[in-house]
Amino acid sequence: MRAVVLREFGPPENLKWESVPTPEPQADEVLLRVGAVSVDLFQMEFRSGRALPQATLPRIIGNGPAGVVEALGQGVQGVQTGQRVVVANNVSCGNCRYCRLGRETLCAGLNNHRGGMIGAHRDGGYAEFVTVPARNVVPLPDSISFEQACLIPNTIGPVVKACAGRAGIRAGENVLIVGAGGGMGVHAVQAARACGGRVIAAIRSTRVAQAVRDSGADATISTREADWCDQVRALTDGWGADVVLDFVATRDTLSASLSVLAPAGRLVIMGYFPRGSILETPTWVFTEERTITGNRSAGRQDVADAVSLIHNGRIKPMVSRVVPLKDAALAHKAFEAGEIVGRAVLVI
Ligand SMILES: [Zn+2]
Repeated sequence: MRAVVLREFGPPENLKWESVPTPEPQADEVLLRVGAVSVDLFQMEFRSGRALPQATLPRIIGNGPAGVVEALGQGVQGVQTGQRVVVANNVSCGNCRYCRLGRETLCAGLNNHRGGMIGAHRDGGYAEFVTVPARNVVPLPDSISFEQACLIPNTIGPVVKACAGRAGIRAGENVLIVGAGGGMGVHAVQAARACGGRVIAAIRSTRVAQAVRDSGADATISTREADWCDQVRALTDGWGADVVLDFVATRDTLSASLSVLAPAGRLVIMGYFPRGSILETPTWVFTEERTITGNRSAGRQDVADAVSLIHNGRIKPMVSRVVPLKDAALAHKAFEAGEIVGRAVLVI
């Protein structure tokens, strides 16, 4: 089969279009014929060596592909050949404390050779075929294309989990999304609306303003304006936001996010945490019962929930560019140049 192989960490040119053996499904695995796979920040971080510098190469990268089940390994039940599916990205153990608690994205096995992420610890979806654990596949209705579905595991699933799970958005609450113009952000606007939230979208570039409005934001403000935090307070009758999702997560944005968090509010950190403290007065968490939490990847149920929300028309995947898989390096360059609104996807 043909696949995009990474043999050395580095720039997009290191993604090579090669002929490699077609994998065979082992016990409890399925062979997937890939239809589409998305391009997102994790793949940039992994390719460059920033995300998991100790990872073993060569590796076929690509998280959470969507496609058709081509063959079944021994013992697979509940999945049929010919079925359209999308693949949840974390290979969790199912038996550790966090898996039992339903927090499989914290599985103790995610960083060892038995578990981990598809496209990082084991070969992923930048290929004509990939083998994945049968329990990671989630059925797709015909209403969702592969191009749309491949946004679910690494983009839409995580924001659904952040909004419904980590933040627990209640109907009518004010939700501030910092970085609402990014690939995660435009989908978080929709997920927060699906939870009944009123969304204030904070963006930096006017170029993404239309995409944010198309996602259904109730108000859009620019973080280039010095008084943008005052604008959040004005839009919330002085209370501040009940929920803040911060996708930028620099020290500046986190400080701003905290400063506009209402009593009983929840801040969900969606990016890499900067060094040093962002909280100089912890009593402010205690006295008004604020919550600071984080959100990493999506679990299998988050993927299934995202499938339902898309099928029911509550979330519309935003795909702005479709690129042949063999040109993956070009798609990575476009992503790093900030050219992609929503997401780019690779197709076979
Ligand atoms: Zn586990």
